[in-house]
Amino acid sequence: MAKALPTKALINGSWVDGSGGTFPVHSPQSGALIADVALYDAGDVARAVEAARAAQPGWAATPLIERVKIMRQIHALFAARAEEVAQVLIIEIGKTVAEAREEVHEYAAPSWQKAGEEVLRHRGLSFPSTQEQTNNKRLVLTHRPLGVVGVITPYNFPTDIASIALAHIIAAGNTAVWKPSEFSPICCNMVAEICTEAGLPPGVLNVVHGMGEVGAAIVDHDDVDGLFFTGSTATGKRIAAKAALRPHLLELGGDGPVIVLADADIDAAVEGAMNACFYYAGQVCTSGERLLVHADIHDEFVTKLKARASQLRIGDPGLDDTEMGPLRNSATLGRVVEHVEEARAQGAEITQYGPQEGLFYPATILTGVTPEMTIAREETFGPVAPIIKISSIPEAIAIANSSKLGLIASLWTRDLATAWRVGEALQHGTVNINETSNYWDQLAPFGGTGNSGVGRELSQWFLERFTEQKLLVFDLGDTEVRYNRRAEGGW
Ligand code: NAD
Repeated sequence: MAKALPTKALINGSWVDGSGGTFPVHSPQSGALIADVALYDAGDVARAVEAARAAQPGWAATPLIERVKIMRQIHALFAARAEEVAQVLIIEIGKTVAEAREEVHEYAAPSWQKAGEEVLRHRGLSFPSTQEQTNNKRLVLTHRPLGVVGVITPYNFPTDIASIALAHIIAAGNTAVWKPSEFSPICCNMVAEICTEAGLPPGVLNVVHGMGEVGAAIVDHDDVDGLFFTGSTATGKRIAAKAALRPHLLELGGDGPVIVLADADIDAAVEGAMNACFYYAGQVCTSGERLLVHADIHDEFVTKLKARASQLRIGDPGLDDTEMGPLRNSATLGRVVEHVEEARAQGAEITQYGPQEGLFYPATILTGVTPEMTIAREETFGPVAPIIKISSIPEAIAIANSSKLGLIASLWTRDLATAWRVGEALQHGTVNINETSNYWDQLAPFGGTGNSGVGRELSQWFLERFTEQKLLVFDLGDTEVRYNRRAEGGW
């Protein structure tokens, strides 16, 4: 018999019901009920925080290599169960088979191992003493965990974004209270199951479920020492306002300009744009939200993009060859419809491929888009390629920088100096040259500027944010130990 889907929450190592009853999780593809998931309230959150607080000193005192062994074991178990988790991602959030497998195999499962190895190399520093004319001071910079970290995650990469964050936060000796998106609680519970079965001690990872209020209860709790949030800019601003003096890392919305200059390799740029606009139906923070295409190559680019989009296999995400599935929820669908219809009313020309029924929205190409339209100013987060014709590089830079959601940009040109100069002029946290906007490296810093976030995640940047730097200053006194060595002293 197939294993039952995990629908409860994890507090202090036990799977418990919520005080708020349950909430339904529906399939984005068919609308059918997948499961009723336990609903938590502020009291449950308080119990989870208490469990995390109680577990934290013991976890931080666990020898580093023992913690790392558990990280490696989580990775091994996750890799063994990756297909099970991928199948739930397909059902629960409508990822295609390829997208779901990519999320678990390439990002979510390996992040536990990567974080373990990273923390082993998270070195401190020693400093020379510069204040006194003695040889008595020794200064050593060390790291200590923050304590209890609240982790609130979105629906679009539910196991990946959470695994990367939790793995680094926990590896560094913190404990966590995690609220996954209400649109992806089941696959997230599978990650928590893997963690407990791999030997993570009770209370180190606690999971609570529910809507925004449950996330807000974590943020509001006085005993939460730090916050990790990935989600929309609107929610991020609310969290930032309450995070106050606590360390926080916020990964928010993006404005994804894809700039295609006159000298670009057009075929490569079209492939890049296909991925940027239609991967997971455009529900990626790094999606191509605006294609800024030079007038000299505009018509050829549009013809080729339409030809490629017309071949997209859209439909049941559970079929191996499907390339694009549905949107995850009606709020996302509503925003996409609103942006596209407003652009249509203001004169944009629209070409669509694929079904428009339920939460399925067609792959959509808009030409004649102007920078003033909402679709060019706000994150749409859907399978839409809004094309703005540009006639100069300064114009492209001005439009790309006119939004405050500077997460990632993509630039297509064959000229090295242009790539360098424009790359420097764009305000975004990352600029991909001759690469889709949906590319990022797991060991490089990732994050946005302006309203797109606060801080940088991944690898050592995670460990820096979720540890506190601590300087130990030793005064050794005047009693020098003299022995026959060529050199004495040092730092
Ligand atoms: P969302 O902001 O609606 O929800 C994210 C999480 O916040 C959910 O768990 C939700 O329940 C919770 N939440 C809602 N209100 C809250 C409140 N007041 N206090 C605390 N928690 C609250 O986002 P979403 O629709 O799940 O995700 C899509 C958004 O996430 C897009 O804007 C996308 O660009 C962004 N995103 C950014 C990155 C990045 O790395 N920059 C990555 C993925 C997604």
